[in-house]
Amino acid sequence: MNKDPHLYPLRHTHNTDQDSALWNWAQNTVVGQRSQLQQPQTEAELQQLLLSASGKVRVLGSRLSPGRMLGVNEQDLLLDLSAFNGVIAQDADSVTFAAGTPLEQVYSTLTEMDRMLASSPGVIAVQTLAGAMATGTHGQGLAQSSIADEALRIRMVLADGSVREFVRGEPDFAAAQVSLGTLGIVTAVTLRTRPFRLFTCHKFAVSADTLEKDLVEWNQQYEMSKAWWFVDDNLMHVWNAHEASDEEAEAWHANQREVIEHGDDTDSSLNDTIDQTLAQMHRDTQIHGKGGKQFRTVTRFRDFTDISGDIYQLFCRGIAVPQINVEIGVPLEKTPQIISKIKAWYAENHPHMHYPIILRCTGASEAWLSPAYQHATCFFGFVVYYADDGSLSQDGLHFLTEVEKLLAAEGGRPHWGKYYDPQRYQWRDIYPQWDAFRAVRNQLDPQRRFSNDYVTALFD
Ligand SMILES: Cc1cc2nc3c(=O)[nH]c(=O)nc-3n(C[C@H](O)[C@H](O)[C@H](O)COP(=O)(O)OP(=O)(O)OC[C@H]3O[C@@H](n4cnc5c(N)ncnc54)[C@H](O)[C@@H]3O)c2cc1C
Repeated sequence: MNKDPHLYPLRHTHNTDQDSALWNWAQNTVVGQRSQLQQPQTEAELQQLLLSASGKVRVLGSRLSPGRMLGVNEQDLLLDLSAFNGVIAQDADSVTFAAGTPLEQVYSTLTEMDRMLASSPGVIAVQTLAGAMATGTHGQGLAQSSIADEALRIRMVLADGSVREFVRGEPDFAAAQVSLGTLGIVTAVTLRTRPFRLFTCHKFAVSADTLEKDLVEWNQQYEMSKAWWFVDDNLMHVWNAHEASDEEAEAWHANQREVIEHGDDTDSSLNDTIDQTLAQMHRDTQIHGKGGKQFRTVTRFRDFTDISGDIYQLFCRGIAVPQINVEIGVPLEKTPQIISKIKAWYAENHPHMHYPIILRCTGASEAWLSPAYQHATCFFGFVVYYADDGSLSQDGLHFLTEVEKLLAAEGGRPHWGKYYDPQRYQWRDIYPQWDAFRAVRNQLDPQRRFSNDYVTALFD
């Protein structure tokens, strides 16, 4: 029996390209029928579609979010904005991208311009710009926050077909930054940029005995820090990055702008832990032999070494593998005590760990609905990979469920674009601007054209 088929749906493993049904990326939920999907080519066409359609409307990005967020009913309209792609305008400090541009294209375009974003990237970059912003997608580092925090202007087609450009500084801009697709259809976003820089990432393994203190220190001392907590082995794998030296930058340029590996020796201190984690994942996913991409997300931790490169080369190297991912943000100031609670819970229950806990901290976000709103935040991330037959390790899910309960009880806010259990959260208590957001939504979309069952349950 699957633990909770609504929260953690099983995955359909057949090739769905020819299906009349349209699935989310993980292929665990049908979001609608292909016949409901329209691909407007211009903003004028989009406005026309909106005015002529009678049902509700939902934009699909790369469909990475849980299907419940994307799904619509039979009479509704689904929109694919892949024609809204590329650079629209640029000046010395900003670039305007069409909303459907994949993040990898945003990043490579900026790199070619010798520019970058202040927000550091997440693990992957196949998301669309508007889809990533809508859910508060983020990377790591206390001096920055989510991608949405880098927006200067957000252009939307509203429910009545009109176009509005939300400009930073306007009272409701913070609602438009992370909007869960409920205020209007984003067609373009102006992102502020800064000069391109290179970074050096120090990688090491260390005991988790003093994680409470260490995590905060790593984040205070380094511009970006990311850590994996192998709870079973009480071990941390840590990546701490700072700006590269002139010498390192020179070496990177001389290496055709490819990543530089430092030192002749690699560090193998994590290899035993990796072997055990792999064995566990093999058991959980019932995949024998070498297995697929999900194992590569762990094997890359073997024999690690310090590296230098651009921010995307260092941090955005993830492998998108179908998974249940849960990520809960808690205020950084409460994080040490929360880590102690997780340790105590683990010592008492010895739950089965499928994949290490991923720890990333960000600075406070301005966006009303960002999980990092007003607080420097530590995100605790959990992953359970699908087995080849589309099933999920029940023990792995048990781990997720229990830690989510613990983090939610501490005032945790879940990542909107990942999986979470809605019954754990009192939204108005954890989001001070919850009602202000609802008021903006009432004003912009009184007919609830940008609703679906998920949005209605949240806000109405
Ligand atoms: C393997 C994997 C790795 C991930 N890694 C990270 C990570 O490192 N950091 C992190 O923070 N998150 C991460 N995520 C979460 C991911 O960034 C979010 O799910 C993101 O929203 C996905 O973008 P998308 O383009 O697929 O949007 P979708 O999932 O298609 O849509 C998300 C929401 O945005 C709305 N939307 C999309 N386009 C528009 C538009 N033009 N106008 C209005 N609304 C719109 C949709 O209606 C929906 O409500 C990861 C997810 C996966 C599956």
